[in-house]
Amino acid sequence: MKLTQHGQYLWQLTRFTAFNCYLVGEGEELTLIDTNMDGSHEGILQAAQTIGLPITRITLTHAHVDHAGSLDKVAAHLADVTVAFSPRTAEFLQGNLSLRPDEPQTKLRGGFVKRTTAVTQLIQAGDQLGSLRVVAAPGHTPDQIAFYDERDGTLIVGDAFQTKAGTAVAGITRWLFPFPAMATWHLPTALETAVTLLDLNPTRLAVGHGRVLENPAAEMDKAIQEAEAKVHAQAQAA
Ligand SMILES: [Zn+2]
Repeated sequence: MKLTQHGQYLWQLTRFTAFNCYLVGEGEELTLIDTNMDGSHEGILQAAQTIGLPITRITLTHAHVDHAGSLDKVAAHLADVTVAFSPRTAEFLQGNLSLRPDEPQTKLRGGFVKRTTAVTQLIQAGDQLGSLRVVAAPGHTPDQIAFYDERDGTLIVGDAFQTKAGTAVAGITRWLFPFPAMATWHLPTALETAVTLLDLNPTRLAVGHGRVLENPAAEMDKAIQEAEAKVHAQAQAA
């Protein structure tokens, strides 16, 4: 896997040029955000070795296969690791994919996987995981959460945005990399999330698919405007 550092605390790990997970430095330890697709555990463990710090926390942005794929295998190689999921991600990983009555009853999309690694800490919006503040980020999936690094304003958003083949809000198709859009559950919710994430004034945007953006506000705003136009057009047509 390709390992690149962004700022003081963030490392991006990329597989097949398009599938990312992240390591975040916390003093002398690392937090792993997402575990990439199946077969990525060796690359992830190797990256931690290259950085020279142990992974002591694992978390997930959402339960899609390209984010949770290598969870069990990574966790099996780590002793005394904190495993922190949102309650909803924990449910999804157990195979309970039911929607809540107050949610849009739109069919879930994308590949969800069952995994057996036990959660040791449930996290929800407003909680801290080390230096990372948990932010609700539904829309791409109902369970998605993002992480805002209080130290430097880095925002790790899973698939709430993509930057591969052009920056886009989840649910807006970039034809050279359409998979995040094809796997998105509910565009209007994804749009609300995108606005909330921009309101955090991130200094750096780290996504599941595509490169890390520095000073991302203008690109996020442009992507939001495009999504707003599409949601508006869909509402008119309905
Ligand atoms: Zn996804």
